[in-house]
Amino acid sequence: MEYEEIKNRLAPCGLHCGKCFAFSDGDIVESSRQLKASLGNFDVYAERFVELLDQPVFKKYPAFKEMLDLFSMAGCSGCRKENCKLFKNCKVRSCSEQKGVDFCFQCSDFPCGNTGFDEHLNRRSVAINRQMAQIGIEKYYDEIKDEPRY
Ligand code: SF4
Ligand code: SF4
Repeated sequence: MEYEEIKNRLAPCGLHCGKCFAFSDGDIVESSRQLKASLGNFDVYAERFVELLDQPVFKKYPAFKEMLDLFSMAGCSGCRKENCKLFKNCKVRSCSEQKGVDFCFQCSDFPCGNTGFDEHLNRRSVAINRQMAQIGIEKYYDEIKDEPRY
């Protein structure tokens, strides 16, 4: 994949927007829509299966469906195009634009204390950026492109 295309899927902090549940062009939304379509009118059957199959787990179907509906409605265009819907305190996007870098590791202040992330996320972002710096963005993307983000 070309650098510019990779940039649309990898945020400046290094997190993989392409595998985010909120990403409108991601695997999760696509699989959720397919599963929703395949399940059709399963609500009726879920109710019946509680007794018919003696499986109380089917009582939880409405909650599962609610989750599936949420995943199916993902509408984020990714960090390069709009503000992150998950990390509302993120400062990386605007900061990287000001610094004129595509990714944090390209910034002379990296690693900084200006991400707005909590400790866990900050550690993850620093580790990803270090790896990108070491092996290159294209190789890094190739290695992680099929891995789940979570
Ligand atoms: S910008 Fe945030 S919410 Fe949107 S796809 Fe990327 S990580 Fe997910
Ligand atoms: S100052 Fe920090 S958040 Fe901003 S681009 Fe540099 S490393 Fe990233």
